Amino acid sequence: ASLFAAVEMAPRDPILGLTESFNADTRSTKVNLGVGVYFDDNGKIPLLAAVKAAEKTRLEAMPPRGYQPIDGLAAYNQIVQKLLFGADSALLEAGQVATIEALGGTGALKVGADYLRRLLPTAKVFISDPSWENHRAIFEYAGFEVDSYPYYDAVSRGVDFAAMKSGLNALPAGSIVVLHACCHNPTGADLSHAQWREVIETIAARGLVAFIDMAYQGFADGIREDAQALQMFAASGLQFLVASSFSKSFSLYGERVGALSVVTASRDETARVLSQIKRVVRANYSNPPTHGGAIVAAVLASAELRQMWKVELAEMRQRILAMRVSLVEKLQGRGVSTDFSFVTRQRGMFSYTGLEVAQVDRMRDEFGIYAVSTGRICLAALNTRNIDYVADAIAAVL
Ligand code: PLP
Repeated sequence: ASLFAAVEMAPRDPILGLTESFNADTRSTKVNLGVGVYFDDNGKIPLLAAVKAAEKTRLEAMPPRGYQPIDGLAAYNQIVQKLLFGADSALLEAGQVATIEALGGTGALKVGADYLRRLLPTAKVFISDPSWENHRAIFEYAGFEVDSYPYYDAVSRGVDFAAMKSGLNALPAGSIVVLHACCHNPTGADLSHAQWREVIETIAARGLVAFIDMAYQGFADGIREDAQALQMFAASGLQFLVASSFSKSFSLYGERVGALSVVTASRDETARVLSQIKRVVRANYSNPPTHGGAIVAAVLASAELRQMWKVELAEMRQRILAMRVSLVEKLQGRGVSTDFSFVTRQRGMFSYTGLEVAQVDRMRDEFGIYAVSTGRICLAALNTRNIDYVADAIAAVL
């Protein structure tokens, strides 16, 4: 028999599977609210002008294509650290952060997970309930047992903070806690600054290890504002990890640009930790690709391109917020009695709408509108042309 004769078909990725069904749908009015990608008002993935300018310069320079260092481009890593922790960060000044260029946020989580598995072989990992589906898979594949802590409250459509806090308080010391820095995926429900303070106090008191995932910096309230939780962790004196990504904020999805940063207690620890993380990288993929990181580094190093990027990122953020406001108004205008005002309080690309499986199915079957079966929709897939149609469909299925 073939070596693979008994191999079972793995289940389809729920969200990428949705896109396959969407692509096969022949209705011209179809809308894909399933994916986690920002589309502009024309329904296109933007190529940012700042990126285009940096790419043009790079193309003209025609640099040779040698290997990068194991930890990636040094200029990129330094500039990422400043974006995360602030240009005047005391931690950076003291050499307490090890940063490597990673293959997107996913790659950063994977390298961090593999490293933590060696550092803390008996620890358990806790993710929010619910969380980005891949969190569980990444940590399980690294060998961890993964469980969840309470997070979302279906009644308020916000965070059940009392439950979250008591959940964290009950975790064994040394547990790894995965936290979303902003724009929680899939719910859109974020913690307030006061709640972050309490979470940090709990993590310190319980001896937990925070692994912060920041995939959407700049999509909630602003570049600096969205890094507030990181600043608060930085001020706490704790050691923690951060997986960050430029997939969304630079619209560079396929270039796989992200970073893993580890905050240590001293410059000397940083050097030792970095040496171990480089071993993980070396044994996985040796070193990261060049293009995406070089583009991000070039944009952030140029005052002019950086300003351009900030404006473009603000436009993306404001367009999503405008779609949130507009969707709520349009549902009200259609006489929907459910209060959807929570959509304007949620942040980032997503909303947990509260639509039930049967309603999501009807939206797909009758209208060709694709949402995740959990009721998650991507606000960044709405635009001035399809929002009325989507509002009609939601009003019809409620
Ligand atoms: N973390 C969260 C919460 C995400 O939503 C995503 C992307 O959807 C990622 C990480 C990974 O992003 P990347 O495409 O950079 O790997």
